[in-house]
Amino acid sequence: MACFYCKGDIVPSTTVYTVQIDNAVIVIKNVPCEECEQCGKIEITHEVMKKIDHIINVAKQLMQEVAVIDYKLSA
Ligand SMILES: [Zn+2]
Repeated sequence: MACFYCKGDIVPSTTVYTVQIDNAVIVIKNVPCEECEQCGKIEITHEVMKKIDHIINVAKQLMQEVAVIDYKLSA
């Protein structure tokens, strides 16, 4: 599999996904992704995005200003 942008090699990696909702910031660590070794472009798969949506919905109910969530621990 090659990068859409630079044709570099795509390798499995993890990233930090941050989203702001109203006054709250939700940070999800250890999100599985695919990263281009050459340009650093990160792709998150559709399945992982669905899981992130679920994590965000749960986090919103906590009503904290900043929520840091580990993707691995929420599985
Ligand atoms: Zn690339």
